[in-house]
Amino acid sequence: MTAARPTRRDFLRRTGLAVCMTVPFRQALAQGAAGRVIVIGGGFAGATCARTLKRLDPRLSVTLVEENPTFTACPFSNEVIAGLRDLRRQQFNYEQLAEMGVALALLRAAGVDPRARTVTLADGTRLSYDRLVVAPGIDISWEGLPGYSEAAAERMPHAWKAGAQTTLLRRQLEAMEDGGLVVISAPANPYRCPPGPYERASLIAHYLKTKKPRSKLILLDAKDAFSKQKLFQNAWKELYPGLLEWVPLSSGGKVTSVDPAALTLATDFQTYKPAVANVIPPQKAGHIAELAGVADRSGWCPIDPVTFQSALQSNIHVIGDAAIAGAMPKSAFAANAEAKVCAAAVAALLAGGTPQTPKLINVCYSLVAPDYGISVAGVYQPANGQLVEVAGSAGVSPLDAPPAIRAAEAQIADGWFRTLAAEVFG
Ligand SMILES: Cc1cc2nc3c(=O)[nH]c(=O)nc-3n(C[C@H](O)[C@H](O)[C@H](O)COP(=O)(O)OP(=O)(O)OC[C@H]3O[C@@H](n4cnc5c(N)ncnc54)[C@H](O)[C@@H]3O)c2cc1C
Repeated sequence: MTAARPTRRDFLRRTGLAVCMTVPFRQALAQGAAGRVIVIGGGFAGATCARTLKRLDPRLSVTLVEENPTFTACPFSNEVIAGLRDLRRQQFNYEQLAEMGVALALLRAAGVDPRARTVTLADGTRLSYDRLVVAPGIDISWEGLPGYSEAAAERMPHAWKAGAQTTLLRRQLEAMEDGGLVVISAPANPYRCPPGPYERASLIAHYLKTKKPRSKLILLDAKDAFSKQKLFQNAWKELYPGLLEWVPLSSGGKVTSVDPAALTLATDFQTYKPAVANVIPPQKAGHIAELAGVADRSGWCPIDPVTFQSALQSNIHVIGDAAIAGAMPKSAFAANAEAKVCAAAVAALLAGGTPQTPKLINVCYSLVAPDYGISVAGVYQPANGQLVEVAGSAGVSPLDAPPAIRAAEAQIADGWFRTLAAEVFG
């Protein structure tokens, strides 16, 4: 359901959850509930997990801790940047989750004490859990790119968390004169949404081609290979010749520093001075993962692939972008699948049972133009402590598909997003 951007106060008044939401918790305990689960993060992973837990065992006391009353989704936010979609279509709320009995704590989780099994909220409230699910998505690794900082992101937006950053990049493109240079920098792996930078480059190229045809786009990349590469590159040749240039790592594409005051991006070989700079920086698991002690030195969270239980802390599970999920990409599709597996495992463990070995599916759709969709799919299963792709399960769109197939895939992508959002947020 698309939300009309309620304020936190409106939302709390309507749902009657004004005081820090510990009451359903206590009621559940008094009724002898099957266990107390706290989920931190109400994105595709966390909201799915909370919902699935409640469905699997309505006696479970499930509390969702989320700092924003309105969730703004990243999938299709590249369309917003290209002026093809309104940001409001990306926004959802948690009313339906509350209606199904999930207790909401619309505050930031400020700390986790794994020994005491408590989560401390930003207002100091402490909540106890039997099992904790950490699903905070990503944070920007500010130390990962010299010159880049929160202040720099106001000049050179990353737009890798949807919302104000998405709007900022859109406005900068709108304000740019025809003939301007746009530079996007893409990070090394791993990062949220492997095909995302290439979809973004495609849709910005579409905007420039149709609205500012004298302009140019350069995609500086810290990699030599990327998801759906042949499909993207064939489409770029066909749709955006001379407009979109990809500079891989081996040709000096890795951005080594940025200067927000001068609006420049430096590689080892050259300094670029665009009219619009979209810096997609290195990333890590959301900060609360570090505070909970579930992130390792890579900044991401190692997990057991059967239960998504943290490899570093007992009684804590990590799902979604924050987790090191082996071959599974960091996508909303994957986050939703991981959340269901994790919820089933948590419910089984709380009931004294044994979690089943899962198989997970991922499909990543990308738009190269509004009526030109491509996709990659895979099936994953645990093997040797990792999630690995099942042999022979991978599939990508055909390289030589006719326009009707590309248009059909664009429609399927749109349908997938609407179905997912309805399933997760109601
Ligand atoms: C431009 C772009 C395009 C994309 N396109 C696609 C696509 O087409 N298909 C696809 O499958 N995926 C896509 N993705 C990837 C997808 O958005 C992510 O993989 C997905 O959102 C991950 O879900 P998550 O629940 O792990 O994190 P999120 O969806 O980011 O949710 C995390 C939530 O945790 C909350 N949170 C964080 N820390 C705290 C805290 N301390 N206390 C309380 N709450 C907290 C945040 O507010 C947020 O609501 C795209 C990403 C980008 C950037």
